[in-house]
Amino acid sequence: MKFIDEYRDPDLVRHLLDAVAALAARVGRRISLMEICGTHTHAIGRFGIRRLLPENIRLISGPGCPVCVTSIHDVDRALYLADRPHVVFATFGDMLRVPGTGGRSLQRLRAAGADVRIVSSTLDSLRLAEENPEKEVVFMGIGFETTAPTVASAIRKAGLKGLNNYSVFSVHKTVPQAISALIEDPELSIDGFICPGHVSVITGVDAYKRIPETGRAAVITGFEPVDILEGILMILRQLQEGRFEVAIQYARGVNREGNPQALNMMGEVFETREAEWRGLGRIPQSGLFIRERYADFDALRKGNLPEIRSIEFEACRCGEILRGVISPEECRLFGKVCTPANPVGPCMVSSEGTCAAYLKYEIHNRKS
Ligand code: SF4
Repeated sequence: MKFIDEYRDPDLVRHLLDAVAALAARVGRRISLMEICGTHTHAIGRFGIRRLLPENIRLISGPGCPVCVTSIHDVDRALYLADRPHVVFATFGDMLRVPGTGGRSLQRLRAAGADVRIVSSTLDSLRLAEENPEKEVVFMGIGFETTAPTVASAIRKAGLKGLNNYSVFSVHKTVPQAISALIEDPELSIDGFICPGHVSVITGVDAYKRIPETGRAAVITGFEPVDILEGILMILRQLQEGRFEVAIQYARGVNREGNPQALNMMGEVFETREAEWRGLGRIPQSGLFIRERYADFDALRKGNLPEIRSIEFEACRCGEILRGVISPEECRLFGKVCTPANPVGPCMVSSEGTCAAYLKYEIHNRKS
């Protein structure tokens, strides 16, 4: 299949692995690289890349899963918004089983009678509002720069159509601000970032300029084995030469400017403010909140939320995993109490979650 087969070509993969091994030996020290995107985490696990790399390269998984980085307080707020009469709460499927305070979840609410529906696109949620004029349809807008433009477009459409029974609970977040927070984290020492391909299609290159400014390497990388290995090779070259930049490996998807139309759409509907990330805490200018101009479509303003006190489940170590401070196997619940069938934390719920990826691929690869 075009654009897949050539990026999984075994000879090319072997050649790249040899080149990575040779360059890693020349760098000659321990090298820590972080992938920021959940799709990269899964691809690295699925293709067994972690165990094929030389011993002095450590791949750390970062906060790239939108469901996982959603704070428990935002989960609790979603539960409040969904558990009201005359409300249809629309969400992507990943969010359904994420536990809030006391283990409550949208799935449990739905079993108890709340009208919670899974949608596969933002437009589906708009359609729900058109088809149910007597109900308030609340859509949970979640994701990074990849999904935010389509949600912004839906809010704009709702305004043009006069759909006053439609609103969005936006927990959208921006990736470059999270990377800046990781750079400042004294517990982490990352030499290079494998930057997310999909997000970068929207943001372009400049969004990551803080990485080279702080003496670290950065490459925007695609999702196939050849992409990832070539990206790692490009990072190693920067480390060896001591010359740092945001390079593009994923040139078939990303250009330096990003997508100005999508960025304009986001800028029209959303403003950036401080937001709470699971594990990373409050990060300035990292949340996309609905502007006053579109207040009629903001579920937080319309929902009249009370003060909600959220309590984390202490045994779950998702926060440390999302910061890259520990790996999933260091959580004592991993694979025993916490499994995909019975997830204790969001990193095991989501298909992009690090714990789910480790259990599915890394442990499996080790056994086979
Ligand atoms: S294994 Fe489960 S409980 Fe442990 S950190 Fe991951 S999601 Fe949380």
